[in-house]
Amino acid sequence: MNNPVIEIVNVTKSYESAKKALNDVSLEIPREAFVAIIGPSGCGKTTLLRLMNGMTGIDSGRIRVMGKNLESWDKIQLRRKMGYVIQQSGLFPHLTVRQNIAFVLRLSSVEKQAIEKRVNELAKIMGFDESQLNAFPSELSGGQQQRVGVARALASQPEIVLMDEPFGALDNITRRNLQREIKEMHRKLKITFVMVTHDLHEAFTLGTHVAIMNKGEIVQFDTPENIQKEPFNDWVKEFITI
Ligand code: ADP
Ligand code: MG
Repeated sequence: MNNPVIEIVNVTKSYESAKKALNDVSLEIPREAFVAIIGPSGCGKTTLLRLMNGMTGIDSGRIRVMGKNLESWDKIQLRRKMGYVIQQSGLFPHLTVRQNIAFVLRLSSVEKQAIEKRVNELAKIMGFDESQLNAFPSELSGGQQQRVGVARALASQPEIVLMDEPFGALDNITRRNLQREIKEMHRKLKITFVMVTHDLHEAFTLGTHVAIMNKGEIVQFDTPENIQKEPFNDWVKEFITI
């Protein structure tokens, strides 16, 4: 079997309170998978996602990314290899769409012409015209802002893209469209996606694998088909039935 692109082994994490946000979590993310992480609010989804790129530290356990211990990665290198998309897009309000998309490339001192070329490529993929590229995020609709967020995450041609409820705040139609685009992108680009969602339909249609979490633990990690066929326990069975 291929080496997992992200390997999380026996990770435990608490914030200030005594309650564990993550309790002895292990997860192997296969290369080029689309992993959807789902579970009730507060179960640790965001924490699990954020520790994959070192944004959140851990108390114990270990994390390997692309075969290398997380702590031995150069932070900027890691950011280039791992795009990150959050809800409400997390765009820089004082930067134009073009500058937002170019942000990570600028950080790593890519040549100006190469940046321009890449931004134009992404604009084409995402359907932005020149005037939109020069606009500020607040001048765009929610769906467009989220598209910019995705474009920014893809700019450095990352091998992994992490997404935290990327479509959560969008209306149904926009959400379905973006879901379709992301699925198509996953098919075309050889990228591993890890997406936190609270939308079961989204998890089961986009995910090649689904991680079902509850109370700081991964209860089941498998393909959507296997989870539906054989829910690990009654709680999972109940959770996936709506
Ligand atoms: P989810 O994304 O599934 O809603 P989170 O990973 O955000 O869950 O949170 C898991 C638990 O950790 C929750 O109980 C939450 O209140 C707590 N938590 C998350 N972030 C922080 C933080 N920065 N400080 C203190 N507690 C936190
Ligand atoms: Mg969350």
